[in-house]
Formats: sequence, structure tokens, C-alpha cells
Amino acid sequence: MARQDDAANRKLAVFPTFHKVEGRRVVVVGSADEAAAKVRLLSETRALIEVVAPEIEPAVAVALDTAGGVWVRAGFRPGLLEGAALVFAASGEERQDTAVVEAARKLGIPANAVDRPELCDFYVGALVNRAPVAIAITSTGVGPVLARHIRARIEALLPRETGDLARLAESFRETVARVITGGAERRRFWARFFSGPVAAHLQAGRPDVARAEAQRLLNSRSDDAGFVWLVGAGPGAEDLLTLRAQRVLQEADVIVHDALVPSDVVAMGRRDAERIAVGKRKGAHSVSQARINEILVREASLGRRVVRLKAGDPLVFGRAGEEMAALRDAGIAYDIVPGVTAALAAAASARIPLTLRGIASDLVFATGHDRSGDTLPGWAGLAMGGATVAVYMGRSVAARVAERLAEAGLAAETPVAVVENAAQRGETLYAGTLGDLAALEGRDDVTGPALIVIGKAVGHADLPESQPLRATLASRAVAAA
Ligand code: SAH
Repeated sequence: MARQDDAANRKLAVFPTFHKVEGRRVVVVGSADEAAAKVRLLSETRALIEVVAPEIEPAVAVALDTAGGVWVRAGFRPGLLEGAALVFAASGEERQDTAVVEAARKLGIPANAVDRPELCDFYVGALVNRAPVAIAITSTGVGPVLARHIRARIEALLPRETGDLARLAESFRETVARVITGGAERRRFWARFFSGPVAAHLQAGRPDVARAEAQRLLNSRSDDAGFVWLVGAGPGAEDLLTLRAQRVLQEADVIVHDALVPSDVVAMGRRDAERIAVGKRKGAHSVSQARINEILVREASLGRRVVRLKAGDPLVFGRAGEEMAALRDAGIAYDIVPGVTAALAAAASARIPLTLRGIASDLVFATGHDRSGDTLPGWAGLAMGGATVAVYMGRSVAARVAERLAEAGLAAETPVAVVENAAQRGETLYAGTLGDLAALEGRDDVTGPALIVIGKAVGHADLPESQPLRATLASRAVAAA
């Protein structure tokens, strides 16, 4: 019994279809907000929109004007519907709406009555318009809220350029049908067309390059060109991933990721995508940079679409420069998808204004180490001038950084904040001064990635709960508990 119910639940009470309206009249009977909403929706199409009503409210007039529709200034009578493709009863009055629907039916025209499902021949879904691609979502019986919510998610997933991609495909369709005669080969061509470099170039706003790439794809069908995206995964929270990052993750055949990228984010790729961990934790380089470069070149050379997923932003202390050089040398096309870098996530968590009028007008992204492992004093001068300094990879050299800054003359009272696991599980904020910073190095309770922010602007933070940077025995006990 339960199984039968289940099976019945999976069947729809409606059958989705798309009604041809181009160049045809669609009549909306009504004068107020309901009518205006329908006019706005119809204006997404090439229908000839007519509103029938003796008077109309300004909202309807504006909607009609924007849509280029016409107002038939008259009380409703059935004759006004003749020849229409569709009819909307949007008067807000039950008797009037019923009369309109009945008149439409007599003329054999499908009708919809706004907010009266029992009167409707058809429902109108929430629409995602990527002309010529259209997606309509309906949730009969649940009301429009869910449909709108789902629409927002689909809108986010489908780039604006989806329509451009469809049009580009259309312009290639005949040639492809003529040139590629094998069905399987044609499918492979289109699969690559829709998800490889052609789509990537269009999304990045390079329609000419996209067209050239499509032509190249057609000319050299046998060599499957791979592609690499260097993608910023942000600080860790899934919803701080950009929509573009999410999209290319869905397209990747292979995901090459760092240890700092949380598994939830790595999991956002296609289920069947291969995942290669090239975990790099400080001091424990499990895979060398040269090896990572090799992996990227090898995978792309096999014709795969590769996402190289890096914590934060790929261009900030991410060794993207070396990866780009390797790809360039190998003649492999690539793109960069930016991400929220740790400094910005940390500042948001600790509510630090990174720049502040009259207080801090420079912002420095610095690292605690240079290549030889030495601490870098290069930005000490900027710190003296009031810059806000965000120090990456600074925890294990905190004492040295503090010492060098003090030597350079930065006051011991200069405010300092440390954010451990910014925008991740286990996020912890620490607040103190430059004089306290050295203590960070000795704290064995701070084990996650940590970002240090130094500067006067930190003193203007609207810090939520934080712990003292210089741990007292009591606060350590609390942290350990
Ligand atoms: N490309 C990355 C930085 C990589 S370097 C970015 O743009 O964020 C690694 C350093 O980044 C870590 O040592 C730490 O200082 C910082 N970091 C990365 N993720 C972090 C996070 N979630 N919270 C705090 N610091 C982080």
C-alpha cells in the first residue's frame, strides 16, 4: 500500500509544455496588481500582450508600457478574446474571472485564473529565462513560494550566457550535422561544445574566442582539448564559494585539491569526477609543486576538464604563478576563478574595517615567511605608516614577526587580531596587541590555519566574542575543555 502511494506521489498532476506565443495575442483581463504581474511575466516572451479593462492602475500602465503591450479600454465581453492564444483572468473578482474562463473555453482558448487553481486549464510556472532556453518550475499544491525558491537556485546555477551558448550552438548545428555524420561522435562534439573551453570563454565574456574555439573543435575533432580552471575555494564555508566556482566544479572531470580545502567543498564536484588530493600542509609537502604541475598538464593533455581547487584565492600565496607557467608552456588553455581570500574572511569574522578613513589607507597581504624561510620585514615600514597588515602563514613565526616589527618601531600597543579557521568549523578569534603576538607561537591549542591582522584599524573592530591572544592558564583550560 505504502509503495503504491509512493508511486502515485511520484506522478504529476500536470504535464509541462511550452505554448507558442510568438506574434500571437495573449489577453489579460484585469486592472490591478495581478494583471500587472502577468504582463511582466508575459513580457519575457514575444507575445502581443493585451490588457482588457475599462480602467487600469498605474502599475498596469507601467508594465504595459515597458512590455510594449496595448490596453483595450473596455469592459469584458467574450468577443474580445477571439483569436487569442492564451487568456489570463486577473480581475481579482471570482464572478468576473469565472466568466472570462468560461468564455475562453467556449472559444477553445486555454485559460488561467490568477490564484484560482480550480478554474485553471493551465498553470504558469516560475520562469528562468535564458532565451532561447526556458525553464519553468511549478509546485502544484505547494504554492508559488517553493517554486520561486527553486527558481532562484536554478538562476544561480545557469549563467546568463546560457542563451548565448544556445545561439552559438544553433549557428553551428547545420554544419555539424553535415560534417560529423556518426551519431556518437556528434554527441561527443556537443558534450565538449557545451561544457569545455567554448562555454568557458563565453562565460568569461569572450564571444569571439568562444566562436573560434568552437570552429577549432569542429576542425580538429579527434584532439580533445583539455582545460584547466584554477579555482579559489574561499576560506572553507561552502556558501562562500562563488557561483562560478560551483559551476566549473560541476563540469570538471578531475578535481585536484589542497588539504586546506574542506571536504564539503571538494564534495561539491560531480559525483563521478576523479579527485586527486595534493595535500600541502606547512612542513609536510606530500606532493611537490613540480609534481602538481605535471598532474595538471597530464590530465588536461588527456582531454579532461580539470579544476585545480585552492584555498582562498588562487592568486594569493597559492603558487598559481608556477601552475600558469607550466600550463602555458604545455599550450593548455586555462582560466582563473577568484575566491574569497583568508584575509577578507578573517576580517569579516572579526568585523575589522581593513581600511578606515583617516586611520588606515593601505592594506598589505603579507606572508610570515619568504622562500628561504626567513621572516620578511619589507612591510614593516608600511605598518609604521598605519597600514593594516594581514599576515598569512604567520603562526609558527609569530614571535619573529612581532620582534621585527617592534625593532622597526611599531608600538607594542598596536592592536592585533588572529582568526583561526576563519569561516570554518572551529572558528576562533583572538585579540591582543603586538606585545602579545609572540605568545601565539607557543600556543599548542591553536592548530588550524590562522590569519594575523595587525594595525590601528584592528582597534576599531566590532569584535564579537574573542579570547585573549596571550593565553592565561584559565583561558587555556577553557579552550581545552
Ligand atoms: N590562497 C590562500 C592562502 C594560502 S596560504 C588564500 O587566498 O586564502 C595558507 C595560509 O592562508 C594559512 O597559513 C593561513 O594563514 C591562511 N588561511 C587559509 N585559510 C584560512 C582560514 N580559513 N582561516 C584563517 N587563515 C587561513
